[in-house]
Formats: sequence, C-alpha cells, structure tokens
Amino acid sequence: MKTLTVSVVTPDGPVLEDSFEMVSCKSENGELGILPGHIPLVAPLTISGVRLKGGEQSSELIAVSGGFLEVRPEKVTILAESAERPSDIDLERAQRAKERAERRLQTKQDDIDFKRAELALKRALNRLDLKQGS
Ligand code: ATP
Repeated sequence: MKTLTVSVVTPDGPVLEDSFEMVSCKSENGELGILPGHIPLVAPLTISGVRLKGGEQSSELIAVSGGFLEVRPEKVTILAESAERPSDIDLERAQRAKERAERRLQTKQDDIDFKRAELALKRALNRLDLKQGS
C-alpha cells in the first residue's frame, strides 16, 4: 500500500510527522479523503477531527481548531491553530471551556464576542467529542 507523509504543525511547534495511507478531514467546502497521488490542493479546515489511517501507525485521530490543509502528491501538511491527540486532551478543561462559552452565548452582547464564544464552544465540543469517542 502506498503511503503519504503527514505533518501536523501548530504555532507551538510540530505535533506529528509520520506515514499514513489516507487522510480524512473536514474542509470548509466539505469532507475530503486524501490518498497518495492526490492533486495539489490547499483548503481551509473547520474545527473538527482529522483521521489518519493505516501506514506504520495504525490510525490516529487529531482534534484541530481550524487552519489549512496543504496537499502535494506524496505529502500532506496540516497547519492548524491547535492540534491535539485524544490522549493530550484535558477533559475537564474542555468541559469548563464549553460551560463558559455557553454562559457567554446566553448573555446579550455584541456580535464580535458572540462569534468568539461560538468558536470557543465549537472547539470545546470538538475536543469532548474526540476525547469521549476515543
Ligand atoms: P481554553 O479556554 O480552555 O483555553 P481554547 O479553545 O480557548 O480553550 P485554544 O486557544 O484553542 O484553547 O488553545 C490554546 C492552547 O491550549 C493550544 O495549545 C491547545 O492545544 C491547548 N488546549 C486547549 N484546550 C485544551 C484541552 N482541553 N486539552 C488540552 N489542550 C488544550
């Protein structure tokens, strides 16, 4: 089976670099499944889980908080605002972030703060989802 080198990078540094057979992720235009040999592509990622399948590592799931996916025929780079493996996710922290965001969304405030709280809620729900599903 052919493989792709996948590199996940955040502003805090590299999170992972390894070979996989397939990358499944959610771009803002829909779900993407990337196999070796895929045409070059750059796509914005949503707050979601990225699944890395096969290769030397069996399978990995990474929680990403937006960013970009860059595809070249033999390499996928995920440049994410944050990226965590389920084992690195602090469940209580994500629960606290969720409750904080929900409280903010319930109080009347300007659009910018509302948008920020909505994004914080999405990040928290994504982390809880990946942690609990892992
Ligand atoms: P919080 O309000 O708890 O800080 P947040 O969604 O605002 O959550 P981010 O700005 O997305 O946090 O991330 C800041 C840094 O903290 C990143 O390095 C991210 O990987 C890490 N991080 C955020 N939440 C968690 C969590 N629940 N478990 C582990 N790491 C986390």
